[in-house]
Amino acid sequence: IEVNKDNEFMHIIHVTAELAPIAKVGGLGDVVTGLARACLSRGHRVGVMLPFYECILKEQINDLTLITSYDSYHDGIWIPTNAYCGVVSGVTIILIEPSNQFFKGQSVYGGSYNELEAYLFFSRACLEWMQVTGTQPDIIHVHEWQTGALSLLYWDMYHYLSLKKPRIVLTIHNMEHFGECSKEQLSKCGLEGSVYASIDRAVDDRTVNHNPERLSLLKGGIVYSNAVVTVSPTYLKETLCSGWLSSTLIRNRDKYIGILNGIDTTIWNPASDVFLPAKFHAQNFEGKKLCKYYVQRGLGLATDDHVADMTLKVPLVVCITRLVAQKGLHLIIQAMKHVEKLGGQMIVLGKSTDGEVEREFEGLANLHNQGRSIRILLIYSEELSHILYAAADMVLVPSMYEPCGLAQMIGMRYGAIPVVRKTGGLADTVFDLDDQPNHEMANGFVFEGIDEVSLNWAMDRAFAYFRDKPDKWNRIVKKVMEIDNSWNNTAGKYVEVYDSVRTRW
Ligand code: ADP
Repeated sequence: IEVNKDNEFMHIIHVTAELAPIAKVGGLGDVVTGLARACLSRGHRVGVMLPFYECILKEQINDLTLITSYDSYHDGIWIPTNAYCGVVSGVTIILIEPSNQFFKGQSVYGGSYNELEAYLFFSRACLEWMQVTGTQPDIIHVHEWQTGALSLLYWDMYHYLSLKKPRIVLTIHNMEHFGECSKEQLSKCGLEGSVYASIDRAVDDRTVNHNPERLSLLKGGIVYSNAVVTVSPTYLKETLCSGWLSSTLIRNRDKYIGILNGIDTTIWNPASDVFLPAKFHAQNFEGKKLCKYYVQRGLGLATDDHVADMTLKVPLVVCITRLVAQKGLHLIIQAMKHVEKLGGQMIVLGKSTDGEVEREFEGLANLHNQGRSIRILLIYSEELSHILYAAADMVLVPSMYEPCGLAQMIGMRYGAIPVVRKTGGLADTVFDLDDQPNHEMANGFVFEGIDEVSLNWAMDRAFAYFRDKPDKWNRIVKKVMEIDNSWNNTAGKYVEVYDSVRTRW
């Protein structure tokens, strides 16, 4: 535990749909765990509330105990609900388990229950639990559309009941998902849906002729929270300039802040990572070669273990991502072709939830996986992701848009040089080596266009650098491993936000 750097200790409760590693789908899960742990180590009291998904990884929860049985409201009835307490990565969690079908199924999202109504229920059940148990944190930190309605429920209902102290902070991790909701659906959590059907509240104003029947839980969350954070300064600017929520964000500009995500450097640490066949760090990254050899051997790729001449070594590119349009699927596919042409190797570790995308990548996997240079692994595997980051010479993130992006930061921590598209958090964390050769921030290769030519150009430059300037390349590898993208750096900014809403409102 670090010495407290903050003036006063606060009690913070996160309310979230994801938490790494027990219920992680993407970056949201990592961010909540990382931020919670960082605040904890600064001396604050931190809890995390999340749904008790049937698929949750129970074996990774310590001291799981039933603590409260209570009723929470949904659609005219009070549903018997259990709250369990446990510990994950040192953080206290509260799991909310309703006795209906909500959160049953084999995955975090996409169960056969109505997802929107389940999260509306969950948002209220968290406040109800706080009321029943007399828990009044300083800050309730909600995330994404799933818990946006909590802000409405707090200020228009529970604040009039017994909860007085908490203030609400909302973090938006991805503006594309905005929780489209009808007035009737919103009414199911006990609020009067029609009250929120105005432009200055929760109405979804995507069209000129606003449809009062269509609300957005994310927009409601923006309007009703005391502070709204998004996950990088560049994404903040982008969201103020475009997208249908921009007018709402501009109206709420004085409480809208961009804070770059960190990575959890305990979980992501090549010097102690249990998944790696050899450990390494910035002062000595010999072990990284072994990781690359291990992956090449394991996947049947040509190995470059004993090649002394760097120009003969095969650069290994990895791309670890959810396979959705946002991530630049056409560029990922193009990169495989181009890497093969350049005589490199590429491994894609990706999971898709869309049948068509899955079939397309399965087709590509059948085509490539027999060869010697490309591997496409269509699974979600935490363990493999660690080994691949460690093995990689380059990590590719060609996103169409990227609120923050963790893959480039994790890649760097493991000595992989990032090749990224200049958007959102990628623009805040990766700076081109050729653009600013002497710039102290320069750490990777950046392209702007969304076309193949732009991507090829960045890959060409990265490959040339790798092959032609081996000493410089190694210095950059050391440099990226030493960059501090940890939460130590950014958690303090969140603490300032918590502090300001406590005193300002
Ligand atoms: P997003 O939140 O949009 O998915 P981020 O880059 O913020 O994107 O976070 C992605 C996280 O999920 C990273 O920790 C990445 O390593 C991990 N990840 C993505 N796909 C996979 C996969 N198929 N297997 C293992 N980890 C994955």
